[in-house]
Amino acid sequence: MSIQSINPVNGQVVKSYTAHSEHEVSKKIAQAHLAWKHWRQVPLDEKAALLMNTAAVLRVRKDALAMTMALEMGKPLKDGVAEVEKCAAVCEYYAQNGIAYMADEAVHTEARKSYISYQPLGIVLAVMPWNFPLWQVFRFVAPGLMAGNCGLLKHASNVPGCALAIEEVLLEAGFPEHVFQTLLINSKAAGKVIEHPLVRAVTLTGSTEAGRQVAAQAAGLLKKSVLELGGSDPYLILEDADLEAAAEICVQSRLINNGQSCIAAKRFILQKGIAGEFTEIFRAKMTARITGDPLAEATQLGPMARKDLRDELHTQVQSNIQAGAKCILGGEIPDYSGDHAFYTPTILTGVRKGMPAYSEELFGPVASIMEASSIAEAVDIANDTQFGLGAAIFSRDVEKAEQIARTQLEAGSCFVNSFVKSDPRLPFGGIKGSGYGRELGLVGMHEFVNIKTVYVA
Ligand code: NAP
Repeated sequence: MSIQSINPVNGQVVKSYTAHSEHEVSKKIAQAHLAWKHWRQVPLDEKAALLMNTAAVLRVRKDALAMTMALEMGKPLKDGVAEVEKCAAVCEYYAQNGIAYMADEAVHTEARKSYISYQPLGIVLAVMPWNFPLWQVFRFVAPGLMAGNCGLLKHASNVPGCALAIEEVLLEAGFPEHVFQTLLINSKAAGKVIEHPLVRAVTLTGSTEAGRQVAAQAAGLLKKSVLELGGSDPYLILEDADLEAAAEICVQSRLINNGQSCIAAKRFILQKGIAGEFTEIFRAKMTARITGDPLAEATQLGPMARKDLRDELHTQVQSNIQAGAKCILGGEIPDYSGDHAFYTPTILTGVRKGMPAYSEELFGPVASIMEASSIAEAVDIANDTQFGLGAAIFSRDVEKAEQIARTQLEAGSCFVNSFVKSDPRLPFGGIKGSGYGRELGLVGMHEFVNIKTVYVA
């Protein structure tokens, strides 16, 4: 069986790879286990040094890595370079903080000594998506390897070149062989890996449906899982917001990675009084974004990652229009030559309960605008969703907005006057259909460790 990467600019095959057979996968798991027996005992300062090397290797290779992303999933080169920089930063973050995060914690009891000790679990399988093909993996790899686990990566089938490049980077940085390995397998074969007794846990970033299936399997086997799933982040624009600044941030967030981000702004909930004015500023800014070849310097939006995903998005847009939403920008497949995956930035207004854009995730450059007659109604609409990944609120009354963010919005990350973003220092993850568990920060590192109690009488 082969796994192919296809350039979404023109539908041409970038490269074909032979998938790993079941036998090869079993061998890799056995090698990972052997590697883990040694790796778990490597002192933390040595592990930290390897992460610092990784950051350096990433920076040396950043242009080549950005090119691989551009060819495999259409990310503009400068965004790819920024992604590689972010991966280097997360490696440095855990190199600098991981030793403290893994340190024993004394707990006073009647014992001579009692404390918490953080011990690695073993092999962790990472099932990852194509949208940030490096960042999604490194935010698991940096804390995971620093904690003493070994990693197996089953990356999305359209980014095998990125998957192999990550393994190469870690080997060049000096990580021992088999501490991190890429498996070139499809999603069906992932089940066998999860089942394997030497695989102790699984982390999945991807759609809610994939998460549900992997979580069910892991639960049946009593294996720990962390799920970073889909989102339909609401952005609330209150009447007292700075509309110009809010619109700029909202457009940036809606179009980040061509709208293919779990924490992109997806639903814009406007207080009635400012709806018309905000929509006009927002439309002007959406229109100004430059779509084109991801390899060209001026390009801000490349193609979507795959043609089938673009077609699916277009169908969603059409069904909203049929249900009564108004399309005030885009809504069409541009008439470019070649078998491309481009989609025009799109705005739907008048989105209401019952329409797909109200309840489904639109994973591409499509903004859904809704109106609310009060703040309470805006909050109700924001929370009326199966998802709970991120949310943002815009207001000049920062204290009021912070209270709403802290106590009323149902999401894992709530931002005030800013777009939702991941940051190595802050925990990241969702609630409800957006998954469970956290990545990044201290808590992210503690997801895949044995929080062991040691008691010496
Ligand atoms: P996807 O289709 O769910 O794929 C994600 C990964 O899961 C891929 O490696 C895929 O492999 C694998 N997969 C799918 N079904 C599986 C199954 N039953 N068993 C094992 N593995 C399975 O998602 P996507 O289209 O790549 O990514 C878009 C989705 O991811 C969106 O919903 C987005 O919001 C979400 N996402 C969430 C976060 C977050 O941090 N919360 C971040 C990024 C993306 P194949 O490619 O081989 O099918």
